[in-house]
Amino acid sequence: MPKIDIHGLTIEKCRQGLMNKEFSALEVAKIFLERIAKDDEQIFSYLTLTPELALGQAKAVDRLIAQGRQIPRLAGVPCAIKDNILLKDARCTAGSKILENYSASYDATVVEKLKKEGAVILGKTNLDEFAMGSSTENSSFGVTRNPRDLERVAGGSSGGSAAAVAGGMAIYSLGSDTGGSIRLPAAFCGVAGLKPTYGAVSRYGLIAFASSLDQIGPMAKTVDDVQTVFEIIAGQDRMDSTSVETPKIENSRLAGGQAKLKIENLRIGVPSEYFVKGGDPEVAKQVKIALEKYEKLGAKIVEVSLPNTEYALAAYYIISPAEASANLARFDGVKYGYSQKAENLADAYLNTRGRGFGKEVQRRIMLGTYVLSAGYYDAYYIRAQKVRTLIRNDFNNAFKTADVLMSPVSPSLPFKIGEKIKDPLSMYLVDLYTVSVNLAGFPALSLPIGEAKGLPVGLQIIGKEFEENKIFKIAKLYESN
Ligand code: GLN
Repeated sequence: MPKIDIHGLTIEKCRQGLMNKEFSALEVAKIFLERIAKDDEQIFSYLTLTPELALGQAKAVDRLIAQGRQIPRLAGVPCAIKDNILLKDARCTAGSKILENYSASYDATVVEKLKKEGAVILGKTNLDEFAMGSSTENSSFGVTRNPRDLERVAGGSSGGSAAAVAGGMAIYSLGSDTGGSIRLPAAFCGVAGLKPTYGAVSRYGLIAFASSLDQIGPMAKTVDDVQTVFEIIAGQDRMDSTSVETPKIENSRLAGGQAKLKIENLRIGVPSEYFVKGGDPEVAKQVKIALEKYEKLGAKIVEVSLPNTEYALAAYYIISPAEASANLARFDGVKYGYSQKAENLADAYLNTRGRGFGKEVQRRIMLGTYVLSAGYYDAYYIRAQKVRTLIRNDFNNAFKTADVLMSPVSPSLPFKIGEKIKDPLSMYLVDLYTVSVNLAGFPALSLPIGEAKGLPVGLQIIGKEFEENKIFKIAKLYESN
């Protein structure tokens, strides 16, 4: 076996190594699978491994290379997929007992796109049940540990996808983000992660949590890798009517998209509401240091206000459970997965859902059906939708004076396993700075900017709709300095 520096391996380095015949795709896949076998018992980033698929995909890439043919953009690069995204013929659990034995009958559009580009898929990663949570502790199958500190959570809900990359068990991964689930675990594990603009990436084949908020996005060690994967998975899909054409994104590199960004013209908006008192001062300090760095590079820092931030969590925890309660109605013991027999139909539903769903999912279904019930619909659901519009207006106003916004990803550092799980409200607070972005539909990147108390800190860079490329350029400026 050739010596490969797993932690230093990026998509581009992996491709180069393959083309220069420093190693074969099969060797790379085997090294990653061995590493998973060795380390993942402790970290638990994967729920299901797909070694046969991975080795087969790797061999196909090696055949192309042996024939002297061009290899596609992700050829031979090992990756991981969050287990709420369908991979044909593999188990897809969404972290729930209710889907423990469900096997996907088709590929999600994003998976299809990765496969076309030569991806080597190692397996499916752990998550909070139906992506509801911020720590991956709500998974029915066990908690994912943070590779940077095994006593702490990896963040959630895409904790497995973040830990797989941070732990050197995948070069990149896919997650999903409804209220922060890509950005938070990326920040907690010290990797980069993008929540794309709503509609930029097809949701076809993503097990829905809250359809008006959900987006699939990439996680990787470098911004460049995040960008590569994003460009591949983005674009309109006739299987998802909310997806749209994204010409600015798809042609960025071709059409000179990498042209120099004029840092002197860059205005970075800092929302004053995104540095709350209860937040960890060490996090705020690291973010301020990063902002100073941008200022030194020539950017202008301007203070902006997002005055409706105080209502964001409330609106999010009305809208997302409302949509979840409708989306999860299909898991009734008749159509999919787990099923409990009973004397009559009502009991069959009750037993199936009562035993198949975990506590947090049950809580959200109750909350969701409550806010949608005839008597409370106007008081909660309609009002939350109005607040959503106000939050969107806040961002649009802020973007009048700023090109991008920057803030911490989360007010807190990665916390200890068990620390918040008994107190849902303190868990919800972890997403204070991320949920608004989903409510408004904008893109945001979580960029690793260093450490506080030996734990990773993430900077959130929020852009205007479909301006992912600007975010990437600005993030790369930080990386290269
Ligand atoms: N932590 C948030 C929640 O529990 C966000 C989850 C997500 O983005 N999927 O709903």
